[in-house]
Amino acid sequence: MSQAINVTIWNEYRHEKKNEKVSSVYPQGMHAAIAEGLNVNANVTIATLDEPEHGLTEEVLAKTDVLIWWGHTAHDEVQDEIVQRVYQRVLKGMGLIVLHSGHFSKIFKKLMGTSCDLKWREADEKERIWVVNPAHPIAEGIGEYFELPQEEMYGEHFDIPQPDELVLVSWFEGGEVFRSGCCYHRGAGKVFYFRPGHETYPTYYNENVRKVISNAVKWAAPVKREYPRYGNAQPLEMIKEKN
Ligand code: ZN
Repeated sequence: MSQAINVTIWNEYRHEKKNEKVSSVYPQGMHAAIAEGLNVNANVTIATLDEPEHGLTEEVLAKTDVLIWWGHTAHDEVQDEIVQRVYQRVLKGMGLIVLHSGHFSKIFKKLMGTSCDLKWREADEKERIWVVNPAHPIAEGIGEYFELPQEEMYGEHFDIPQPDELVLVSWFEGGEVFRSGCCYHRGAGKVFYFRPGHETYPTYYNENVRKVISNAVKWAAPVKREYPRYGNAQPLEMIKEKN
């Protein structure tokens, strides 16, 4: 069996405590449903906003291979110091999976360098998610498309840099489309943005959503090798004197 991947699931964990509709869908928190759905050989750590250092201490991050991020209502409460810490870990090789409303998180915006703005609508509409990159590891085991009977709509234009690889595209009942599964490389780290997961819908119990997240964890896990050396370098070969 492959070596276990150390996965930290970070959840803002505010909607579940304040909104009965959300707590009825996710009584143990959205992080619990995401953790339960991981079909990966993983050691899972849960971290939430209201813990000291948002649960993302140096120690926790140092041993995290892949960080999953769900945030929405309190992006501004995430301390810049912690954002910087996560950012540095990504550049050093930690994988990051940003879910749904995490498109507006400080860490995602910092990694993208754009506004990450989009269109949205809450109208209980159907979402059809198409695989547009069938050979990609994140699409493994996913059919031509899959559907979520009710989701929040996110529409283009989504103000992100051109993804290095686009895996999924959503269509919504109201007519919009959206780049739903976007891969990026930042330094030695890999970043995957995955759209579905509005807090009032049971999206994280969906079999295909769980498969995508599990595949993304495997894809984003760091490659085990030495971090590249930068800066002044001695020549590998003798450099001939030139007259
Ligand atoms: Zn939402």
